[in-house]
Amino acid sequence: MITRSAPGVHTCNQQTASDSWQMQLANCVTQPEKLLELLGLSPSLLPAAVNASKTFAMRIPRSYIARMEYGNPNDPLLKQVLPLEQELQEVAGFGIDPLGEQDKNPTEGVIHKYHGRLLLITSGACAVNCRFCFRRHFPYQDNQLSGRHLEEALNYIKNNRSIREVILSGGDPLAASDRRLRQLAEALADIPHVKVLRIHTRLPIVLPDRVTDDMLSWLGSTRLKTVIVLHCNHANEINGNVKTAIARLKQADITVLNQTVLLKGVNDTVVALVELSEALFDAGAMPYYLHLLDKVQGAAHFDVSRESAQDLVRGMMERCSGYLVPRLVQEIAGKTSKTIIPLN
Ligand code: SF4
Repeated sequence: MITRSAPGVHTCNQQTASDSWQMQLANCVTQPEKLLELLGLSPSLLPAAVNASKTFAMRIPRSYIARMEYGNPNDPLLKQVLPLEQELQEVAGFGIDPLGEQDKNPTEGVIHKYHGRLLLITSGACAVNCRFCFRRHFPYQDNQLSGRHLEEALNYIKNNRSIREVILSGGDPLAASDRRLRQLAEALADIPHVKVLRIHTRLPIVLPDRVTDDMLSWLGSTRLKTVIVLHCNHANEINGNVKTAIARLKQADITVLNQTVLLKGVNDTVVALVELSEALFDAGAMPYYLHLLDKVQGAAHFDVSRESAQDLVRGMMERCSGYLVPRLVQEIAGKTSKTIIPLN
């Protein structure tokens, strides 16, 4: 548990009304030196952090840093975002497009892998750069969903009557402005065969002030059934502000689920996973998927073996109610759905 938070960083309760989510995004910590200073960590970590952040930039909201334990280099939130030398090692089996998404890209900004649903790369930006991100090498510059490309994407959906559900992804789709998201939701609602809007986002976890009245207004006014799939990996990520954000989503009649990535050194114990499920449920989000790491270049040091993952989920089943145990899954390039990993 967090015992001391970083001095000099706003805790969530200290955040003022003037700290809009856009301002908080603009004030993210991007210099490894600053991060180490805020957390009172050894400068010996600096050269590796600077090196690794040259290939995938460091980016962390201050309110997220405030949830880390001061002086602890093994803090489970810090480990998700601190660039390390290991990221620069090439490891066999870890590539730049682990899910084969770039072959399933029918038009710019669209990934169509599975029957009945399709993914729109709504924003290339994120509030936080997670070091294990499977899209850390994704060519966002070739997937800008605006102007002519947005029109092409909407036409693609109109012409594919099997598409029932549209998933906004990224980057983080909620990094886009509410004005843009409202327009997109309205355009999708105008396509009769689209019934469900799903949003995959880490923003309500890492920067909960993103759940604004404006956002709830466009979400609440669409005819589409709306599902938000959060991405939370550790119970320490869930503080009072996150609970408030989730409660507001639920009040707006949005289904709120969570997916977690199993990460070595972050959440690879039964205790950590049970605490996470309990904290999510207390906050109003259902634990949904526990993902094996996607084998992306730069993230091999987070990998947990399939056998260990199975043991962990079996351990969870002995410790908590079935509805708190997420489904253990893996995405395998070329498959027509996620692969559920059996436990026996
Ligand atoms: S928020 Fe999601 S898309 Fe962005 S870096 Fe983290 S895991 Fe990747």
